Amino acid sequence: MDHSLEILKAIVQAGREHQAGPPLSEVEIFQDWSDRPETWDRRDGSCTRRELLARYLLVNAVLDQGPDTEGVRLLLTRVTNELYRREIRFLHEPHRFFQELGIAIQQIDSVHDAIKHLRAEEWARRNQSQPSKYSLFMENAAQVLGYAVFRWGVPLALPLILVSEASEEERPQALLNYLRTYPSAERMSEQLKSHRRYGLGKAIGDKAAHLYAKWLIHSYPILRDDHNPGWGAFSFEVPFDSNAGRVLWRTGFFLEWADYQDYESWSVVQTGKGKGGTHYIRVTNIREKASQRAQDIPQLWQAYRDIVTHHLRMGRPQKVQIQRIPLALLYMSEIGTPGELDDGLMYIGTQFCFNHDRPECEECPAQNVCRGYQEERSLITWYRT
Ligand code: SF4
Repeated sequence: MDHSLEILKAIVQAGREHQAGPPLSEVEIFQDWSDRPETWDRRDGSCTRRELLARYLLVNAVLDQGPDTEGVRLLLTRVTNELYRREIRFLHEPHRFFQELGIAIQQIDSVHDAIKHLRAEEWARRNQSQPSKYSLFMENAAQVLGYAVFRWGVPLALPLILVSEASEEERPQALLNYLRTYPSAERMSEQLKSHRRYGLGKAIGDKAAHLYAKWLIHSYPILRDDHNPGWGAFSFEVPFDSNAGRVLWRTGFFLEWADYQDYESWSVVQTGKGKGGTHYIRVTNIREKASQRAQDIPQLWQAYRDIVTHHLRMGRPQKVQIQRIPLALLYMSEIGTPGELDDGLMYIGTQFCFNHDRPECEECPAQNVCRGYQEERSLITWYRT
């Protein structure tokens, strides 16, 4: 446990110094007030400012499932600015996106080309890939229509139907009112994907749903409520994506909580399935896998039960799930919060811990605690995410 605490401490520190989140002030309709949360309950046309931010961030979370977070943020910022300049106020009135779908597709396409021109070379260098492979459309899709309707349209359709079903006084905050019906940010993120009527389904992954929770609680205090543990700093799981998975694997964090053979049997480690015959780490397969080692540490098991029962509001746990161990460790040690940890994982994963055999360890803020760098180089050279 001591090594894991050291790792978390280094990553949290990096997160405090490098906060991550979409640059709201670059969106023209937000720029006069996005840094003044005390004004977010004011009306802005048909809805409140707070509601507008929640709608925008939902679209951003859905789009942010590709290989270049920075590129996705640029794409959404620029397309939003372009559409609003043409009076297509699609955040205020989501039906306008569908009404003007032809213009939206044209804007997405041309802005994507401009961003590719700007970022493809650097992206390819960092990922040991080809600039021609740069694409922000997910699953390597080449069709703008499918991307626009599925990835932009689905998160816009949620406020669209909520507004249509809301009473007049509830309409300005229809999305926020719906999100607040859940007892915690974690339950909200789960239902954002899975709710029978309102769930986004395959348009949003677990990681993106948790990222949305993180933004609403940690990055921007849109739904945060420090008097209610269900909406406080520990109310959501750290979103695990490939960046987080790579850092937690190479530093030795995961191997402290289960054996290599366990990860292989869960298909978290897929032998020989990585680029060039390396082993592939599929971090999403860690979800719900149990760690008996963690459960055998009384202090950790107690913290875990508190977190799951009172903060995540997911009922009384019977076992320790590995993806929630960082929360319990942060909670019992008071090192920092899940949001700070995720900021640190993003910073290290995207700036130093590149997905090839020569990450920039000499510059990395976690180098002193990293098992891959300090003693077991194969944790770096043999694994890809
Ligand atoms: S020291 Fe190297 S391998 Fe370890 S987390 Fe940093 S960049 Fe990754």
